[in-house]
Amino acid sequence: MDQEATLVIIKPDGLKKSLTGNILTRLSEAKLKIIGAKVVEVKEDLANTHYSHLKDKPFFQELIKYIRGKLHGENRVMSLVYCGENAIGKVRRIAGATNPEEADPISIRGAYGRILTTGLYENVIHASSESSEAEREIKLWFNPDEIVYDLYPALEKQFSSQTRRVWQ
Ligand code: UDP
Ligand code: MG
Repeated sequence: MDQEATLVIIKPDGLKKSLTGNILTRLSEAKLKIIGAKVVEVKEDLANTHYSHLKDKPFFQELIKYIRGKLHGENRVMSLVYCGENAIGKVRRIAGATNPEEADPISIRGAYGRILTTGLYENVIHASSESSEAEREIKLWFNPDEIVYDLYPALEKQFSSQTRRVWQ
């Protein structure tokens, strides 16, 4: 498929180091479209589900703390959906390799990432690595109405008893 969507997360170290503008500028080189964007406070459930495939890794608990901002005194990440031709591969290339010391020095991770003394890769950005992962992640982080494009089939559901916060 030519038109692809991919999830990008600017991790807490990226926000803490004021790299958001820089990262978005780098990603704009790919000429993709941003079709969803928001700032998120990552709850434990979301973190665990996002990284569920890594739950048996020795660094899992540290990784959960990292994405939740607990290592940086931050409570925010920025999540974005990029769409376009070969979006997944293009964004991964600009992001760079998982290990920031092995990443191309001109990639985002190569330029701004580091390895913590615990061994965790603090690598500034998340990017989906293949299309089924992208679909799973986009559906996890975004509701259909938060994306300005009908990416995946959705349905209308009524929640009559739902309580929501509204502006006072
Ligand atoms: N990670 C790590 N050590 C490893 C592998 C991964 O600290 O040996 C962290 C790193 O922050 C990475 C995240 O776990 O971005 C998710 O790992 P994955 O293998 O999915 O790498 P990615 O897809 O982010 O390149
Ligand atoms: Mg991954």
